[in-house]
Amino acid sequence: MVEPFRNEALTDFSKPESSEAFEAALRKVRDQLGAKHSCWIGGEEITTSGELVSRDPGETETVVGIWPKCGVEEAEQAIRAADAAFPEWSERTAAERAQFLFDAAELMRRRKHEFSALMVYEVGKNRAEADADTAEAIDFLEFYAREALRYAEPQPVTPIPGEKNELFYIPLGVGAIIPPWNFPLAILVGMTTAALVAGNTVVLKPASDSPTIGGAFVDLMREVGLPGGVLNYLTGPGALAGEHLVNHPRTRFISFTGSKAVGLGIIEKAARMAPGQIWIKRVVAEMGGKDGIYVDADCDLEAAVRGVVASAFGYSGQKCSACSRAIVHETVYDRFVEELAALTSELVVAHPSRPEASLGPVSSENAYKKILDYIEIGKGEGRLIAGGDKAPGNGFYIRPTVFADVAPEARIMQEEIFGPVLAVCKVADFEEGTKVFNGTEYGLTGAIYSNDRAHLDYAKRRFHVGNLYLNRKCTGALVGGQPFGGFNMSGTDSKAGGRDYLLLFLQAKSVSEKI
Ligand code: NDP
Repeated sequence: MVEPFRNEALTDFSKPESSEAFEAALRKVRDQLGAKHSCWIGGEEITTSGELVSRDPGETETVVGIWPKCGVEEAEQAIRAADAAFPEWSERTAAERAQFLFDAAELMRRRKHEFSALMVYEVGKNRAEADADTAEAIDFLEFYAREALRYAEPQPVTPIPGEKNELFYIPLGVGAIIPPWNFPLAILVGMTTAALVAGNTVVLKPASDSPTIGGAFVDLMREVGLPGGVLNYLTGPGALAGEHLVNHPRTRFISFTGSKAVGLGIIEKAARMAPGQIWIKRVVAEMGGKDGIYVDADCDLEAAVRGVVASAFGYSGQKCSACSRAIVHETVYDRFVEELAALTSELVVAHPSRPEASLGPVSSENAYKKILDYIEIGKGEGRLIAGGDKAPGNGFYIRPTVFADVAPEARIMQEEIFGPVLAVCKVADFEEGTKVFNGTEYGLTGAIYSNDRAHLDYAKRRFHVGNLYLNRKCTGALVGGQPFGGFNMSGTDSKAGGRDYLLLFLQAKSVSEKI
Protein backbone atom coordinates (compact mmCIF):
# COMPACT_ATOMS: atom_id res chain seq x y z
CA MET A 1 0.00 0.00 0.00
CA VAL A 2 1.49 3.33 -1.09
CA GLU A 3 1.02 6.24 1.32
CA PRO A 4 -0.65 9.39 -0.07
CA PHE A 5 1.82 11.89 -1.53
CA ARG A 6 3.20 14.51 0.82
CA ASN A 7 5.74 17.24 0.05
CA GLU A 8 9.25 16.75 1.36
CA ALA A 9 9.95 19.03 4.34
CA LEU A 10 12.48 21.82 3.86
CA THR A 11 15.50 21.95 6.14
CA ASP A 12 15.38 24.42 9.01
CA PHE A 13 18.89 25.88 8.88
CA SER A 14 18.32 27.86 12.08
CA LYS A 15 18.80 24.56 13.93
CA PRO A 16 22.51 24.12 14.69
CA GLU A 17 22.44 20.40 13.85
CA SER A 18 21.03 21.12 10.35
CA SER A 19 23.59 23.82 9.72
CA GLU A 20 26.42 21.55 10.87
CA ALA A 21 25.18 18.67 8.71
CA PHE A 22 25.12 21.01 5.72
CA GLU A 23 28.65 22.29 6.43
CA ALA A 24 29.84 18.68 6.56
CA ALA A 25 28.19 17.98 3.18
CA LEU A 26 29.85 21.08 1.71
CA ARG A 27 33.26 19.85 2.90
CA LYS A 28 32.66 16.35 1.54
CA VAL A 29 31.50 17.60 -1.85
CA ARG A 30 34.30 20.15 -2.06
CA ASP A 31 36.87 17.40 -1.62
CA GLN A 32 35.43 15.59 -4.63
CA LEU A 33 35.29 18.55 -7.03
CA GLY A 34 37.31 18.50 -10.22
CA ALA A 35 36.86 14.79 -10.99
CA LYS A 36 36.72 13.50 -14.53
CA HIS A 37 33.42 11.79 -15.38
CA SER A 38 31.94 9.61 -18.12
CA CYS A 39 28.61 9.58 -19.85
CA TRP A 40 26.35 6.55 -19.54
CA ILE A 41 25.06 5.23 -22.84
CA GLY A 42 23.52 1.81 -23.35
CA GLY A 43 24.73 0.75 -19.92
CA GLU A 44 28.37 1.61 -20.75
CA GLU A 45 30.58 4.44 -19.58
CA ILE A 46 31.56 6.59 -22.55
CA THR A 47 34.25 9.25 -22.82
CA THR A 48 35.33 11.56 -25.64
CA SER A 49 38.59 13.33 -26.41
CA GLY A 50 36.86 16.71 -26.15
CA GLU A 51 36.06 17.99 -22.66
CA LEU A 52 33.26 19.99 -21.15
CA VAL A 53 34.60 21.70 -18.05
CA SER A 54 32.10 22.82 -15.45
CA ARG A 55 33.30 25.56 -13.09
CA ASP A 56 32.00 27.17 -9.90
CA PRO A 57 30.40 30.44 -11.06
CA GLY A 58 31.14 31.91 -7.63
CA GLU A 59 34.87 31.02 -7.70
CA THR A 60 35.72 30.57 -11.33
CA GLU A 61 39.11 28.93 -10.79
CA THR A 62 37.41 25.95 -9.17
CA VAL A 63 36.58 23.11 -11.53
CA VAL A 64 33.46 21.26 -10.42
CA GLY A 65 33.61 18.43 -12.94
CA ILE A 66 35.07 17.45 -16.29
CA TRP A 67 32.65 15.79 -18.68
CA PRO A 68 32.74 14.36 -22.20
CA LYS A 69 31.92 16.79 -24.95
CA CYS A 70 29.59 14.55 -26.90
CA GLY A 71 28.59 15.34 -30.44
CA VAL A 72 26.55 13.78 -33.20
CA GLU A 73 28.24 10.37 -33.00
CA GLU A 74 27.50 9.86 -29.31
CA ALA A 75 23.99 11.30 -29.68
CA GLU A 76 23.35 8.72 -32.40
CA GLN A 77 24.67 5.97 -30.15
CA ALA A 78 22.43 7.14 -27.31
CA ILE A 79 19.27 7.17 -29.43
CA ARG A 80 20.06 3.68 -30.72
CA ALA A 81 20.60 2.45 -27.16
CA ALA A 82 17.31 3.96 -25.98
CA ASP A 83 15.53 2.50 -28.99
CA ALA A 84 16.93 -0.97 -28.28
CA ALA A 85 15.92 -0.81 -24.62
CA PHE A 86 12.36 0.37 -25.29
CA PRO A 87 10.59 -2.96 -26.03
CA GLU A 88 11.62 -4.58 -22.75
CA TRP A 89 11.17 -1.47 -20.58
CA SER A 90 7.76 -0.65 -22.05
CA GLU A 91 6.55 -4.17 -21.18
CA ARG A 92 7.31 -3.79 -17.49
CA THR A 93 4.42 -3.12 -15.15
CA ALA A 94 3.83 0.36 -13.81
CA ALA A 95 4.52 -0.99 -10.32
CA GLU A 96 7.95 -2.26 -11.34
CA ARG A 97 8.87 1.03 -12.97
CA ALA A 98 7.50 3.10 -10.09
CA GLN A 99 9.63 1.13 -7.63
CA PHE A 100 12.82 2.53 -9.20
CA LEU A 101 11.52 6.04 -8.45
CA PHE A 102 10.51 5.19 -4.89
CA ASP A 103 13.94 3.67 -4.26
CA ALA A 104 15.68 6.68 -5.79
CA ALA A 105 13.61 9.07 -3.64
CA GLU A 106 14.64 7.19 -0.51
CA LEU A 107 18.33 7.30 -1.40
CA MET A 108 18.18 10.97 -2.39
CA ARG A 109 16.48 11.79 0.90
CA ARG A 110 19.36 10.16 2.78
CA ARG A 111 21.94 12.14 0.79
CA LYS A 112 19.92 15.31 0.54
CA HIS A 113 22.61 17.72 1.72
CA GLU A 114 25.20 16.28 -0.65
CA PHE A 115 22.99 16.91 -3.65
CA SER A 116 22.29 20.43 -2.37
CA ALA A 117 25.98 21.10 -1.67
CA LEU A 118 26.82 20.19 -5.25
CA MET A 119 24.32 22.82 -6.41
CA VAL A 120 26.05 25.41 -4.22
CA TYR A 121 29.24 24.83 -6.17
CA GLU A 122 28.01 24.09 -9.67
CA VAL A 123 25.19 26.62 -10.12
CA GLY A 124 25.62 29.12 -7.28
CA LYS A 125 22.52 28.33 -5.20
CA ASN A 126 22.60 29.32 -1.54
CA ARG A 127 21.75 26.61 0.96
CA ALA A 128 18.04 27.38 1.26
CA GLU A 129 17.55 27.49 -2.52
CA ALA A 130 19.57 24.33 -3.04
CA ASP A 131 17.68 22.55 -0.28
CA ALA A 132 14.35 23.49 -1.92
CA ASP A 133 15.62 22.21 -5.27
CA THR A 134 16.54 18.82 -3.78
CA ALA A 135 13.24 18.60 -1.91
CA GLU A 136 11.39 19.26 -5.16
CA ALA A 137 13.37 16.54 -6.93
CA ILE A 138 12.33 14.07 -4.21
CA ASP A 139 8.74 15.27 -4.60
CA PHE A 140 8.79 14.64 -8.34
CA LEU A 141 10.07 11.07 -7.81
CA GLU A 142 7.38 10.34 -5.23
CA PHE A 143 4.61 12.10 -7.15
CA TYR A 144 5.21 10.66 -10.61
CA ALA A 145 5.65 7.13 -9.22
CA ARG A 146 2.16 7.42 -7.73
CA GLU A 147 0.81 8.95 -10.92
CA ALA A 148 2.09 6.00 -12.96
CA LEU A 149 0.20 3.64 -10.64
CA ARG A 150 -2.94 5.74 -11.04
CA TYR A 151 -2.75 5.78 -14.83
CA ALA A 152 -2.28 1.99 -14.84
CA GLU A 153 -5.64 1.46 -13.14
CA PRO A 154 -8.66 0.45 -15.26
CA GLN A 155 -9.99 3.53 -17.04
CA PRO A 156 -13.76 4.18 -17.13
CA VAL A 157 -15.51 3.61 -20.50
CA THR A 158 -19.24 3.52 -21.29
CA PRO A 159 -20.54 -0.10 -21.42
CA ILE A 160 -21.71 -1.29 -24.87
CA PRO A 161 -23.85 -4.48 -24.98
CA GLY A 162 -22.14 -7.44 -26.67
CA GLU A 163 -18.65 -5.99 -26.41
CA LYS A 164 -15.99 -5.73 -23.74
CA ASN A 165 -14.36 -2.32 -24.02
CA GLU A 166 -11.24 -1.08 -22.33
CA LEU A 167 -8.93 1.87 -22.60
CA PHE A 168 -5.39 1.85 -21.33
CA TYR A 169 -2.31 4.01 -21.63
CA ILE A 170 0.86 2.95 -23.39
CA PRO A 171 4.22 4.76 -23.64
CA LEU A 172 5.36 6.69 -26.70
CA GLY A 173 8.90 5.47 -27.35
CA VAL A 174 12.26 7.23 -27.19
CA GLY A 175 12.35 10.71 -25.68
CA ALA A 176 14.95 13.47 -25.76
CA ILE A 177 15.05 15.17 -22.37
CA ILE A 178 16.62 18.63 -22.49
CA PRO A 179 16.49 20.53 -19.17
CA PRO A 180 17.94 23.91 -18.12
CA TRP A 181 20.64 24.61 -15.52
CA ASN A 182 18.57 26.71 -13.13
CA PHE A 183 16.80 23.83 -11.37
CA PRO A 184 19.54 21.39 -12.27
CA LEU A 185 18.18 18.66 -10.03
CA ALA A 186 14.42 19.20 -9.63
CA ILE A 187 13.52 19.98 -13.23
CA LEU A 188 15.96 17.44 -14.66
CA VAL A 189 14.67 14.71 -12.35
CA GLY A 190 11.02 15.61 -12.95
CA MET A 191 11.31 15.69 -16.73
CA THR A 192 13.34 12.47 -16.86
CA THR A 193 11.42 10.32 -14.42
CA ALA A 194 7.96 11.33 -15.66
CA ALA A 195 8.96 10.01 -19.09
CA LEU A 196 10.63 6.87 -17.69
CA VAL A 197 7.91 5.82 -15.29
CA ALA A 198 5.39 6.12 -18.11
CA GLY A 199 7.38 3.39 -19.90
CA ASN A 200 9.51 5.40 -22.30
CA THR A 201 13.26 5.23 -22.66
CA VAL A 202 15.22 8.47 -22.82
CA VAL A 203 18.36 10.30 -23.75
CA LEU A 204 19.01 12.96 -21.14
CA LYS A 205 21.16 15.87 -22.30
CA PRO A 206 21.76 18.17 -19.33
CA ALA A 207 22.53 21.88 -19.65
CA SER A 208 26.25 22.44 -20.16
CA ASP A 209 26.41 24.59 -17.01
CA SER A 210 25.22 21.76 -14.73
CA PRO A 211 26.43 18.34 -15.94
CA THR A 212 27.74 17.20 -12.54
CA ILE A 213 24.41 17.50 -10.77
CA GLY A 214 22.65 15.60 -13.56
CA GLY A 215 25.44 13.02 -13.36
CA ALA A 216 24.90 12.58 -9.62
CA PHE A 217 21.25 11.77 -10.31
CA VAL A 218 22.19 9.29 -13.05
CA ASP A 219 24.55 7.57 -10.58
CA LEU A 220 21.64 7.28 -8.18
CA MET A 221 19.48 5.63 -10.83
CA ARG A 222 22.29 3.20 -11.60
CA GLU A 223 22.56 2.43 -7.90
CA VAL A 224 18.87 1.52 -7.69
CA GLY A 225 19.42 -0.85 -10.61
CA LEU A 226 17.87 0.93 -13.58
CA PRO A 227 18.77 -1.21 -16.61
CA GLY A 228 21.30 0.10 -19.13
CA GLY A 229 19.84 1.84 -22.18
CA VAL A 230 16.66 2.96 -20.39
CA LEU A 231 18.27 6.21 -19.28
CA ASN A 232 21.18 7.43 -21.40
CA TYR A 233 23.24 10.36 -20.19
CA LEU A 234 24.83 12.51 -22.87
CA THR A 235 26.76 15.66 -21.97
CA GLY A 236 27.66 18.12 -24.70
CA PRO A 237 26.59 21.28 -26.45
CA GLY A 238 22.88 21.67 -27.04
CA ALA A 239 23.44 23.11 -30.48
CA LEU A 240 25.21 19.88 -31.55
CA ALA A 241 24.30 16.86 -29.43
CA GLY A 242 20.89 18.28 -28.50
CA GLU A 243 19.99 19.16 -32.02
CA HIS A 244 20.81 15.67 -33.28
CA LEU A 245 18.41 14.23 -30.72
CA VAL A 246 15.68 16.65 -31.79
CA ASN A 247 16.10 15.87 -35.50
CA HIS A 248 16.46 12.11 -35.19
CA PRO A 249 13.73 9.99 -36.86
CA ARG A 250 13.66 7.54 -33.92
CA THR A 251 12.96 10.33 -31.42
CA ARG A 252 9.27 10.08 -30.60
CA PHE A 253 9.03 13.05 -28.23
CA ILE A 254 11.07 15.94 -26.90
CA SER A 255 10.70 17.26 -23.39
CA PHE A 256 12.40 20.63 -23.18
CA THR A 257 12.65 23.33 -20.54
CA GLY A 258 14.67 26.44 -21.30
CA SER A 259 14.62 29.70 -23.17
CA LYS A 260 11.97 30.85 -25.62
CA ALA A 261 14.44 31.08 -28.51
CA VAL A 262 15.72 27.51 -28.14
CA GLY A 263 12.23 26.16 -27.42
CA LEU A 264 10.72 27.69 -30.54
CA GLY A 265 13.64 26.39 -32.61
CA ILE A 266 13.02 22.86 -31.27
CA ILE A 267 9.30 23.08 -32.05
CA GLU A 268 10.12 24.09 -35.62
CA LYS A 269 12.72 21.36 -36.16
CA ALA A 270 10.56 18.68 -34.59
CA ALA A 271 7.76 19.50 -37.01
CA ARG A 272 9.89 18.47 -40.01
CA MET A 273 9.64 14.81 -41.06
CA ALA A 274 13.03 13.11 -41.17
CA PRO A 275 13.46 10.28 -43.71
CA GLY A 276 12.19 7.06 -42.15
CA GLN A 277 10.17 8.81 -39.47
CA ILE A 278 6.74 7.24 -38.94
CA TRP A 279 5.21 9.49 -36.28
CA ILE A 280 4.56 13.12 -35.49
CA LYS A 281 6.97 14.12 -32.75
CA ARG A 282 5.39 15.40 -29.60
CA VAL A 283 7.06 18.45 -28.05
CA VAL A 284 6.60 19.55 -24.47
CA ALA A 285 8.36 22.92 -24.20
CA GLU A 286 8.44 24.95 -21.01
CA MET A 287 9.99 28.33 -21.68
CA GLY A 288 10.66 31.79 -20.29
CA GLY A 289 8.72 34.31 -18.27
CA LYS A 290 8.39 38.01 -17.50
CA ASP A 291 6.53 37.60 -14.26
CA GLY A 292 4.74 40.50 -12.63
CA ILE A 293 3.42 41.34 -9.18
CA TYR A 294 0.59 43.87 -8.92
CA VAL A 295 0.52 45.93 -5.69
CA ASP A 296 -2.90 47.40 -5.06
CA ALA A 297 -3.87 50.68 -3.36
CA ASP A 298 -5.27 48.79 -0.38
CA CYS A 299 -2.95 45.97 0.64
CA ASP A 300 -0.47 44.87 3.27
CA LEU A 301 2.38 46.94 1.82
CA GLU A 302 5.07 45.46 4.02
CA ALA A 303 4.11 41.94 2.89
CA ALA A 304 4.08 43.15 -0.72
CA VAL A 305 7.60 44.58 -0.43
CA ARG A 306 8.87 41.37 1.17
CA GLY A 307 7.12 39.24 -1.45
CA VAL A 308 8.52 41.24 -4.35
CA VAL A 309 12.07 41.17 -2.95
CA ALA A 310 11.92 37.41 -2.32
CA SER A 311 10.44 36.73 -5.76
CA ALA A 312 12.81 39.05 -7.62
CA PHE A 313 16.10 38.21 -5.95
CA GLY A 314 15.81 34.62 -4.68
CA TYR A 315 18.52 32.71 -6.61
CA SER A 316 19.52 36.03 -8.19
CA GLY A 317 16.31 36.22 -10.21
CA GLN A 318 17.29 33.10 -12.16
CA LYS A 319 13.98 31.33 -11.77
CA CYS A 320 11.48 31.19 -14.59
CA SER A 321 8.96 32.20 -11.91
CA ALA A 322 11.03 35.18 -10.67
CA CYS A 323 9.30 38.54 -10.42
CA SER A 324 10.91 40.99 -12.83
CA ARG A 325 8.09 43.54 -12.94
CA ALA A 326 6.44 45.24 -9.96
CA ILE A 327 3.28 47.07 -11.03
CA VAL A 328 2.26 49.45 -8.29
CA HIS A 329 -0.82 51.58 -7.68
CA GLU A 330 0.08 55.28 -7.56
CA THR A 331 -1.35 55.88 -4.07
CA VAL A 332 1.20 53.54 -2.47
CA TYR A 333 3.93 53.89 -5.10
CA ASP A 334 6.35 56.25 -3.33
CA ARG A 335 6.25 54.32 -0.05
CA PHE A 336 6.59 51.02 -1.89
CA VAL A 337 9.64 52.21 -3.84
CA GLU A 338 11.32 53.58 -0.75
CA GLU A 339 10.81 50.40 1.28
CA LEU A 340 11.76 48.22 -1.68
CA ALA A 341 15.08 50.04 -2.11
CA ALA A 342 15.79 49.77 1.62
CA LEU A 343 15.07 46.03 1.81
CA THR A 344 17.01 45.30 -1.39
CA SER A 345 20.07 47.07 -0.06
CA GLU A 346 20.10 44.72 2.95
CA LEU A 347 20.65 41.66 0.76
CA VAL A 348 24.09 40.10 1.00
CA VAL A 349 25.86 39.01 -2.18
CA ALA A 350 28.49 36.39 -1.41
CA HIS A 351 29.71 32.92 -2.29
CA PRO A 352 26.66 30.72 -1.73
CA SER A 353 28.53 28.35 0.57
CA ARG A 354 28.52 31.14 3.14
CA PRO A 355 25.47 30.98 5.41
CA GLU A 356 24.84 34.73 5.19
CA ALA A 357 24.60 34.78 1.37
CA SER A 358 21.18 35.98 0.22
CA LEU A 359 22.37 35.89 -3.38
CA GLY A 360 25.23 34.02 -5.00
CA PRO A 361 26.67 34.60 -8.45
CA VAL A 362 24.79 34.35 -11.72
CA SER A 363 25.29 31.14 -13.63
CA SER A 364 27.91 31.89 -16.28
CA GLU A 365 30.00 34.48 -18.02
CA ASN A 366 27.43 34.75 -20.82
CA ALA A 367 24.63 35.36 -18.35
CA TYR A 368 26.80 37.86 -16.47
CA LYS A 369 27.50 39.92 -19.59
CA LYS A 370 23.89 39.76 -20.75
CA ILE A 371 22.55 40.92 -17.38
CA LEU A 372 25.08 43.76 -17.12
CA ASP A 373 24.05 44.84 -20.62
CA TYR A 374 20.42 44.93 -19.53
CA ILE A 375 21.40 47.02 -16.50
CA GLU A 376 22.89 49.56 -18.89
CA ILE A 377 19.67 49.50 -20.92
CA GLY A 378 17.72 49.99 -17.68
CA LYS A 379 19.72 53.10 -16.86
CA GLY A 380 18.20 54.66 -19.95
CA GLU A 381 14.70 53.37 -19.22
CA GLY A 382 14.21 54.02 -15.51
CA ARG A 383 15.50 55.56 -12.29
CA LEU A 384 18.11 53.36 -10.59
CA ILE A 385 17.18 52.97 -6.91
CA ALA A 386 19.30 49.95 -5.90
CA GLY A 387 22.33 48.07 -7.21
CA GLY A 388 23.22 48.74 -10.81
CA ASP A 389 26.64 47.15 -10.96
CA LYS A 390 28.86 44.13 -10.43
CA ALA A 391 29.50 42.97 -6.88
CA PRO A 392 32.99 42.03 -5.64
CA GLY A 393 34.23 38.43 -5.71
CA ASN A 394 36.08 36.06 -7.96
CA GLY A 395 32.96 35.07 -9.83
CA PHE A 396 29.90 36.35 -11.65
CA TYR A 397 28.45 38.52 -8.91
CA ILE A 398 25.89 41.23 -9.60
CA ARG A 399 24.22 43.48 -7.05
CA PRO A 400 20.44 43.18 -6.85
CA THR A 401 19.22 45.99 -9.04
CA VAL A 402 15.95 47.94 -9.07
CA PHE A 403 14.76 50.52 -11.58
CA ALA A 404 11.72 52.66 -10.72
CA ASP A 405 9.48 54.72 -13.03
CA VAL A 406 9.75 52.27 -15.93
CA ALA A 407 7.21 52.46 -18.76
CA PRO A 408 5.19 49.29 -19.56
CA GLU A 409 6.64 49.01 -23.06
CA ALA A 410 10.30 49.44 -21.97
CA ARG A 411 12.63 46.60 -22.85
CA ILE A 412 13.31 45.79 -19.19
CA MET A 413 9.53 45.45 -18.71
CA GLN A 414 9.15 43.16 -21.74
CA GLU A 415 12.24 41.00 -22.21
CA GLU A 416 13.35 38.16 -19.98
CA ILE A 417 16.63 39.18 -18.33
CA PHE A 418 17.00 36.14 -16.05
CA GLY A 419 19.06 37.90 -13.41
CA PRO A 420 18.71 40.12 -10.33
CA VAL A 421 17.05 43.03 -12.11
CA LEU A 422 13.60 44.35 -11.23
CA ALA A 423 11.60 47.03 -13.05
CA VAL A 424 8.93 49.00 -11.16
CA CYS A 425 6.04 50.62 -13.00
CA LYS A 426 3.47 53.08 -11.62
CA VAL A 427 -0.21 52.66 -12.61
CA ALA A 428 -3.20 54.94 -12.00
CA ASP A 429 -5.72 52.21 -11.14
CA PHE A 430 -6.47 48.49 -11.04
CA GLU A 431 -7.65 48.45 -14.67
CA GLU A 432 -4.36 49.86 -15.88
CA GLY A 433 -2.53 47.48 -13.56
CA THR A 434 -4.35 44.53 -15.13
CA LYS A 435 -3.43 45.72 -18.60
CA VAL A 436 0.23 46.11 -17.71
CA PHE A 437 0.26 42.76 -15.90
CA ASN A 438 -1.03 41.00 -19.02
CA GLY A 439 0.96 43.16 -21.41
CA THR A 440 3.85 40.84 -22.32
CA GLU A 441 4.13 37.85 -24.63
CA TYR A 442 4.68 35.54 -21.64
CA GLY A 443 2.26 34.10 -19.08
CA LEU A 444 4.12 32.03 -16.52
CA THR A 445 3.64 33.25 -12.95
CA GLY A 446 2.43 36.37 -11.20
CA ALA A 447 0.91 37.67 -8.00
CA ILE A 448 -1.40 40.32 -6.66
CA TYR A 449 -1.25 41.95 -3.24
CA SER A 450 -4.68 43.39 -2.39
CA ASN A 451 -7.27 43.60 0.40
CA ASP A 452 -10.03 44.13 -2.15
CA ARG A 453 -11.98 40.88 -2.63
CA ALA A 454 -13.39 42.01 -5.97
CA HIS A 455 -9.88 42.72 -7.27
CA LEU A 456 -8.61 39.35 -6.09
CA ASP A 457 -11.55 37.57 -7.75
CA TYR A 458 -11.06 39.53 -10.96
CA ALA A 459 -7.34 38.74 -10.99
CA LYS A 460 -8.17 35.07 -10.52
CA ARG A 461 -10.15 35.14 -13.75
CA ARG A 462 -8.27 37.68 -15.85
CA PHE A 463 -4.58 37.76 -14.87
CA HIS A 464 -3.47 35.43 -17.64
CA VAL A 465 -0.68 33.32 -16.16
CA GLY A 466 -0.35 29.60 -15.50
CA ASN A 467 0.49 30.11 -11.81
CA LEU A 468 -1.15 33.01 -10.02
CA TYR A 469 -0.66 33.80 -6.34
CA LEU A 470 -2.89 36.01 -4.21
CA ASN A 471 -1.18 37.89 -1.39
CA ARG A 472 2.03 35.87 -1.52
CA LYS A 473 5.24 35.70 -3.54
CA CYS A 474 5.19 34.29 -7.07
CA THR A 475 8.00 31.74 -6.69
CA GLY A 476 8.19 28.40 -4.87
CA ALA A 477 5.41 26.29 -6.42
CA LEU A 478 5.06 22.94 -4.70
CA VAL A 479 4.66 19.64 -6.52
CA GLY A 480 1.12 18.31 -6.27
CA GLY A 481 -0.42 21.42 -4.71
CA GLN A 482 0.66 23.97 -7.31
CA PRO A 483 1.18 22.22 -10.66
CA PHE A 484 3.55 24.43 -12.62
CA GLY A 485 3.68 25.81 -16.16
CA GLY A 486 2.67 28.84 -18.16
CA PHE A 487 0.65 30.22 -21.04
CA ASN A 488 1.51 32.06 -24.26
CA MET A 489 5.25 32.17 -25.02
CA SER A 490 5.97 30.58 -21.65
CA GLY A 491 5.36 27.16 -23.10
CA THR A 492 3.07 24.44 -24.32
CA ASP A 493 0.66 24.81 -21.39
CA SER A 494 1.68 21.72 -19.46
CA LYS A 495 1.66 21.44 -15.71
CA ALA A 496 4.69 19.79 -14.14
CA GLY A 497 3.84 18.20 -10.81
CA GLY A 498 0.15 17.93 -11.71
CA ARG A 499 -2.24 15.13 -12.55
CA ASP A 500 -2.18 15.82 -16.32
CA TYR A 501 1.59 15.74 -16.67
CA LEU A 502 2.18 12.02 -17.18
CA LEU A 503 -0.35 11.99 -20.00
CA LEU A 504 2.14 14.01 -22.04
CA PHE A 505 4.35 10.91 -22.20
CA LEU A 506 1.57 8.41 -22.85
CA GLN A 507 -0.94 7.59 -25.56
CA ALA A 508 -4.31 5.93 -25.03
CA LYS A 509 -5.29 2.66 -26.69
CA SER A 510 -8.89 1.48 -26.92
CA VAL A 511 -9.59 -2.23 -27.31
CA SER A 512 -13.02 -3.78 -27.92
CA GLU A 513 -13.68 -7.51 -27.84
CA LYS A 514 -16.90 -9.12 -29.10
CA ILE A 515 -18.43 -11.25 -26.36
P1 NDP B 1 18.57 27.36 -22.86
O1 NDP B 1 17.40 27.45 -23.77
O2 NDP B 1 19.79 28.09 -23.22
O3 NDP B 1 19.01 25.83 -22.67
C1 NDP B 1 18.12 24.83 -22.24
C2 NDP B 1 18.61 23.48 -22.71
O4 NDP B 1 18.56 23.43 -24.14
C3 NDP B 1 20.07 23.20 -22.35
O5 NDP B 1 20.19 21.84 -22.02
C4 NDP B 1 20.80 23.52 -23.64
O6 NDP B 1 22.04 22.87 -23.76
C5 NDP B 1 19.81 23.01 -24.65
N1 NDP B 1 19.97 23.55 -26.00
C6 NDP B 1 20.52 24.74 -26.37
N2 NDP B 1 20.46 24.87 -27.72
C7 NDP B 1 19.87 23.75 -28.21
C8 NDP B 1 19.51 23.30 -29.50
N3 NDP B 1 19.75 24.03 -30.59
N4 NDP B 1 18.91 22.09 -29.63
C9 NDP B 1 18.64 21.34 -28.55
N5 NDP B 1 18.96 21.72 -27.29
C10 NDP B 1 19.55 22.90 -27.12
O7 NDP B 1 18.02 27.78 -21.41
P2 NDP B 1 18.83 27.89 -20.05
O8 NDP B 1 19.47 26.59 -19.73
O9 NDP B 1 19.67 29.11 -20.07
O10 NDP B 1 17.64 28.08 -18.99
C11 NDP B 1 17.05 29.30 -18.69
C12 NDP B 1 15.72 29.44 -19.39
O11 NDP B 1 14.85 28.40 -19.01
C13 NDP B 1 14.98 30.73 -19.04
O12 NDP B 1 14.42 31.27 -20.21
C14 NDP B 1 13.87 30.24 -18.11
O13 NDP B 1 12.74 31.08 -18.06
C15 NDP B 1 13.57 28.91 -18.68
N6 NDP B 1 12.91 28.04 -17.70
C16 NDP B 1 11.57 27.80 -17.84
C17 NDP B 1 10.90 27.03 -16.91
C18 NDP B 1 9.45 26.73 -17.05
O14 NDP B 1 8.96 25.87 -16.35
N7 NDP B 1 8.73 27.41 -17.93
C19 NDP B 1 11.60 26.49 -15.74
C20 NDP B 1 13.02 26.81 -15.71
C21 NDP B 1 13.63 27.56 -16.65
P3 NDP B 1 23.41 23.71 -23.52
O15 NDP B 1 23.40 24.13 -22.10
O16 NDP B 1 24.46 22.73 -23.86
O17 NDP B 1 23.38 24.88 -24.46
